[in-house]
Amino acid sequence: MSDKKTSFSLKPDPLVLLGFAVVITGIIFLVYGFIPQVQPHYYLVATGSVSINDTYTPETYFQSHYNGSDPMNLVQCYPSITGWNCAGYQQIGTIIVYGVSSRYLGLALMFLGIGAVFAGNRLAPFKPKPSHIRPITVRIDDDICVSNSVCVSLAPNVFQLKKQETPTIFAPTAYVVDPSAADNDTIIQAAEMCPTGAIIIEDAETGERIHPPLPKG
Ligand code: SF4
Repeated sequence: MSDKKTSFSLKPDPLVLLGFAVVITGIIFLVYGFIPQVQPHYYLVATGSVSINDTYTPETYFQSHYNGSDPMNLVQCYPSITGWNCAGYQQIGTIIVYGVSSRYLGLALMFLGIGAVFAGNRLAPFKPKPSHIRPITVRIDDDICVSNSVCVSLAPNVFQLKKQETPTIFAPTAYVVDPSAADNDTIIQAAEMCPTGAIIIEDAETGERIHPPLPKG
């Protein structure tokens, strides 16, 4: 029997978070689509045309000239070539309606959001991490270090000048004491201030050069 375990964990990726937001929005739309809504129920009692009239709105004109026996509670008019086409309605009660289109929209959003969650989770490991949070390696090129201690003054816990056992005519070059003793931004700033570009920073996982930038081409 195999004891191999499979695990699934969600990555805090922007696409994953966006997917969750879309899923939640979809759930809201879906639930809304099942909420009964009471709406007035109308019965058509009259239709007619109204010519363009500057004195009255077409609804007012249509209603004022209605002489049927059934009460007219609602008038709706739409523009036509000659003026307006109007229809009058009597409210005969209420009906329960559901936002069916809201259900479809909610389902579509949920599928879209779930897709975004899975896509974001799969793609997250392949996205380059910002330089301030990715693990880095730091080294110094002794051949071009001019021992001016700029890096030591900016990040003393990371860089120090080598101690000389015996006096020589050469100034001691810098070395890396502890690359984890400062945040990446501080180390990168020290590297940028190094006058000779002797501090070399690379991504610890991919080996990608972070500083100094490699020549293009
Ligand atoms: S700043 Fe650059 S040149 Fe100066 S000591 Fe540090 S590594 Fe050497």
